[in-house]
Amino acid sequence: MRWGLIGASTIAEQFMIGAIRATGGTVAGIVSTTEARAADFARAQGIPAHGTALSLLLEDPTIGAVYISSTNEKHHAQALAAIRAGKHVLCEKPLAMTVAEASEMVRAADAAGLTFATNHHLRCSGSHRAIRDLIARGRIGRVLSLRLFHAVHLPASLQGWRIKDASAGGGVIPDITVHDADVARFLLGEDPLTVVAQMSASGMGQGVEDSAMSVWTMPSGAMVQSHESFTHPFAGSGLEVHGTEGSIFARGVMTQRPLGEIELVTGQGREAVPYPQHDLYAQGLTDFLAATEGRGQPAATGWDGVASLAVALAVRTAAQTGTRQTVDIPRAA
Ligand code: NDP
Repeated sequence: MRWGLIGASTIAEQFMIGAIRATGGTVAGIVSTTEARAADFARAQGIPAHGTALSLLLEDPTIGAVYISSTNEKHHAQALAAIRAGKHVLCEKPLAMTVAEASEMVRAADAAGLTFATNHHLRCSGSHRAIRDLIARGRIGRVLSLRLFHAVHLPASLQGWRIKDASAGGGVIPDITVHDADVARFLLGEDPLTVVAQMSASGMGQGVEDSAMSVWTMPSGAMVQSHESFTHPFAGSGLEVHGTEGSIFARGVMTQRPLGEIELVTGQGREAVPYPQHDLYAQGLTDFLAATEGRGQPAATGWDGVASLAVALAVRTAAQTGTRQTVDIPRAA
C-alpha cells in the first residue's frame, strides 16, 4: 500500500511511519498546514513528496490510503476529501469534534465502498486481546465491573493544543476517554447506556479539562469506572475486570507499546497470563490492509470510532451539566 500522511504529527513520527514500513507499506507523501514543517518532516522521515495541499496526495492515483493525524478539528473535512478522492482512510481518534460529523465521515466511506478505520491501538494489543479472550471463555464468570485507570502525565512536548485549545479538540476526554470507551466496548462486547461524570483542571488544562472520572452502566448490568488524566506522573495505568468467578488485574497495559502484566485470580489461585508482544500499530495496519483487500474488518472500524466519541462526549456533557447522560450511538444504515 502506498500511503499519504495528512498531518506532520508526533504519532506519525514516533509510531505510524515505522509501522507502515514494517507492514510493507510506502509513505509516499506528507501534507502539513505549513510548507516549512512539511519539508522538514519529509526530509527527516525520508518521505519523497511533501506540501500543504491535500491534492498532492488525493490526486496521486498510486496512493491507495491516507492516514489522518492532524489536530482533531481537521479530521472531518480531510477525511471527506480523501473519501471523495476514492482513498481508504485510517483516521486518528477522536474521529471528529461531534458525533454527527464522525457519522458523516463513516457513512461517506461506506457509501463509496472504502475501508475506514479508527486508530484505536489498545484493542490491537496482545494484552487486551488476551483479557477479552479470558472474559469470552468465561474464566471470570459473569462480569460485574470494569475499572479503567488511565491517568498519565502528558509529556512536555505534547503540552500544546491538547491542554489549551478547545477549538482544536483539546482536553483529556477527547484524547483519552475515547480510548477507554473503546476498551470497554472491546472487552465487554456491549455499549454503555448511560454515564455520570465529573471533570476538572488539575494543573495543566487551560480552558479544557485535564482530568475526568466517570461511571457507565452497561446493558448486562456491569458497571464501568473510568479515570483519565494528563497530570499524574506516578499513577501508572491499567484495568481490572471483576466477575462472579474471578478477577483480572492488568497493570501498565494502557500504553502505546506491548508492555504490562496480566494476572488472573480465581478460586484455583493466581496465575500470570502470557500474551503476544507484537507492535500495536502494526497489528492495526495489518487488519486495515486485509480489510482493503476484502478480508474482514479493521480492528476498530469507523463505527467503533463513532461509538467511542459518543461515549466520550456524553461523559463531557454529564460532567458539564451534573446530570446522567444517555449515550446515543448512531449505527450503520
Ligand atoms: P501533534 O501535536 O504532534 O501534531 C498534530 C498537528 O499539530 C500536526 O499535524 C501539525 O500540524 C501540528 N504540529 C505538531 N507539532 C508542531 C510544531 N512543533 N509546530 C507547529 N505545529 C505543530 O499531535 P499528536 O501526534 O500527539 O496527535 C495527532 C492526532 O493523533 C490527534 O488526533 C490525536 O488524538 C491522535 N493521537 C492518537 C494516538 C493513538 O495512539 N491512537 C496517540 C497520539 C495521538 P501540520 O500537520 O498542519 O503541520
